[in-house]
Amino acid sequence: MQEVILTEDELRQLCAEYQRILRLQDWRVRVKIGRPDPEQADDGAYVTYNTTLRVADILIVAPEYYPTNAMMPQDMEIDLVHELVHLYFALLGKPSDDTGKDLLEAAIESIAEAVVNLRRDNHNPGQEPKEQSP
Ligand SMILES: [Zn+2]
Repeated sequence: MQEVILTEDELRQLCAEYQRILRLQDWRVRVKIGRPDPEQADDGAYVTYNTTLRVADILIVAPEYYPTNAMMPQDMEIDLVHELVHLYFALLGKPSDDTGKDLLEAAIESIAEAVVNLRRDNHNPGQEPKEQSP
């Protein structure tokens, strides 16, 4: 997997597009790139939200603060979609134990990767088979 580093403008455009794809248009989502709270700096992105007002702030970690022990290269698009998918689960409340949290994170990450990969495949379709020469 390759690193995917985007600008704030690109992320805002993608956010609007993924809100449409995920049918989360009734949320007002702000996205920015920045430095995570040093207390909890072990992730590539963070979301804070208010489910009543349907507002959310997504922080995508700037490359210089991306955790060096991460298993995967930084992919800001997957991180963005991961935080958007969290908004669905936000309505359920937070899992009470670590196993629940880990399972939830793994499920959200799988969904985010699947959605991003489907969109990427649609935008970069495989090349048409070459015409055979006679
Ligand atoms: Zn998460």
